[in-house]
Amino acid sequence: MDIPYEKLPHLSMGIQGTKIDIPNLCLYRGNINEWFYRSIDRDVRFIDLVNEWIEDAVTGELIKADGFETIRRNEKPVFFVVANYDYLERVIESNSSDRVCRFLSSHRVSENLFRLDNREYEVEENVGYPCILICDRSSVEEEFISNIVKTVGDLSHLKSIHLMQHAAASYRNKIYMKESVKYNGELLVVVGIKRPQQVIGSSSEYEFLALMIAFDMKSNPIINQCPCLIGALISDCSVEASRRISGINSELKSVTIIGCGAVGSNVSMMLAKMGIVEQHLIDNDILLPHNLVRHYANNGHTIGMQKVLYQKMTIESIYNTGKIQVDYKNVIDINPEDISADAIIDCSASEIVFDWLCNQPHFTKKIMRTELAYNGKMGITLVESTLRKNSIGDLRTYLWYRAVENDLISDWLRAENENEDVLLSQLHIGMGCSSDTMILDNATIWNHTSILPNILLQNYSCETGKVVINYFDKEDITQNKIFSFDVESFVELSGPNDFKIRVYEPILKKVTSFLADKEENAGIWIGSVNHKTNTIYIVDTFMPQDNKRSNSEVIRGSAGVAEFVINVEQRCNSYVGYLGEWHTHPRASSCMSNIDKNTFESMSKIKGAYKILLMTIFGKTDIQNYIYL
Ligand SMILES: [Zn+2]
Repeated sequence: MDIPYEKLPHLSMGIQGTKIDIPNLCLYRGNINEWFYRSIDRDVRFIDLVNEWIEDAVTGELIKADGFETIRRNEKPVFFVVANYDYLERVIESNSSDRVCRFLSSHRVSENLFRLDNREYEVEENVGYPCILICDRSSVEEEFISNIVKTVGDLSHLKSIHLMQHAAASYRNKIYMKESVKYNGELLVVVGIKRPQQVIGSSSEYEFLALMIAFDMKSNPIINQCPCLIGALISDCSVEASRRISGINSELKSVTIIGCGAVGSNVSMMLAKMGIVEQHLIDNDILLPHNLVRHYANNGHTIGMQKVLYQKMTIESIYNTGKIQVDYKNVIDINPEDISADAIIDCSASEIVFDWLCNQPHFTKKIMRTELAYNGKMGITLVESTLRKNSIGDLRTYLWYRAVENDLISDWLRAENENEDVLLSQLHIGMGCSSDTMILDNATIWNHTSILPNILLQNYSCETGKVVINYFDKEDITQNKIFSFDVESFVELSGPNDFKIRVYEPILKKVTSFLADKEENAGIWIGSVNHKTNTIYIVDTFMPQDNKRSNSEVIRGSAGVAEFVINVEQRCNSYVGYLGEWHTHPRASSCMSNIDKNTFESMSKIKGAYKILLMTIFGKTDIQNYIYL
């Protein structure tokens, strides 16, 4: 049968010295053993397949419209070259002439493995392994290699191969004669072949072929007569491939990661492996011996290296996109305007960073904060809403307040800082992973960290905030669970003395709705105070049943107030508690009446747990806050 072998992408090369020394059709895709195992009892199917295949071959339909199938020869390659296809395409496309002959830097990884360095070979560098790249980009080639290849001449139907004699001469003059490199008698060559359509597995129309040509520089022979081996050119890992393999279809392209310790380094690498490789990494620490126990780094030679540099090198060893930005600094020493990624992930476990992030009015990007608490049993992740309609500060107070109904959160808060005056000190829910005295194993940290990339991806465009708790008790893993709370917006009201008052919007709506009544109404505020940032967070209100309401005043009742406050402060270990009072003036301004002044003056002596008393008056048209410190 006269088969147009050169038009067929699937060929098994013949075996010399046997009856099958001509190329023969390759009928399977995937693993040949699996294929035959599945087909062996079904002769009919096998014959159908052969017929189908030959029919496709004759009508030229073996090449499908979804892309140009690359040369597939079933010999075992004798050597491998790893290269970045995007880089090779750039070199070819940017060449001034259609006929490309360039020397690329490469190195020999092992006996039969070479890796291109994504840069040109410098004649003076005297190291490495120059690799010749040739390509005739003016000619589009449709044919496959159907003959047995022993010499360069056996490939002469490929137009690009015609550049080979010139390339060898050029190598001889520019590199060999200058003794730039110890020549071992072989030329490593990558041939670019321009195909009529996009090549499958590539983002362009170029197919690449790796050759090893035995070439004696002294006798300078005719290249077509030189022995030639075909190797396998393997693409290095591309971002697109990582996204495709991981099933990532997110708008999120770039992240800023604050803190590259145990949690941050792992989040960074997991995201990188999902194809999110535009990373801005911020950390002012170096790798220490104890880091090897829990950090992503697991090579002793990295000790002493900046964590950010380690991370950059590791990611770039996979992708080499040049899109990793590093700052070996504390984030608070960075100009906030230099942080421009789509999302910020704070893994610093630092209270200073927490407050700094809360105080960045220019940030409109997604902010996520994660830290470990409760002796490593809880991974707490706070994800702000889009456009920062709530902040990590809001989310944290909201989380603390959940202790009222959630035993786990309550147990955690009651276990935290038992000897510390939490009300005056900066409130401290987490602990850093930087200490070598912290007892926490790598597997537990991985458990907490492993959910973070997907939390970010799933909530990246989310208009509500989210608090996610990952509970992992290694002593009893059957009780482990993940649960989350949706958190609505917070509204910021201004207060005196530079205080900001941030009120949970559903609570604010509830209270302002009483302005529609003729009578005044009153209640108490429940929340927390951050004295470092002068921020009051209000998450709830309580209105006693026995308020005495009239058109001109309201006397706030006391029924159930003490019980309510005591319960909250006990359950929340006073992380959340009584903050003060509010009342409405449906017919008047938000200014204090004389009665108000007297009342507040006397109440200020019984300030709540936070050593602060907030008084809010909802007037007909505006709201005013009064604070007694
Ligand atoms: Zn009043």
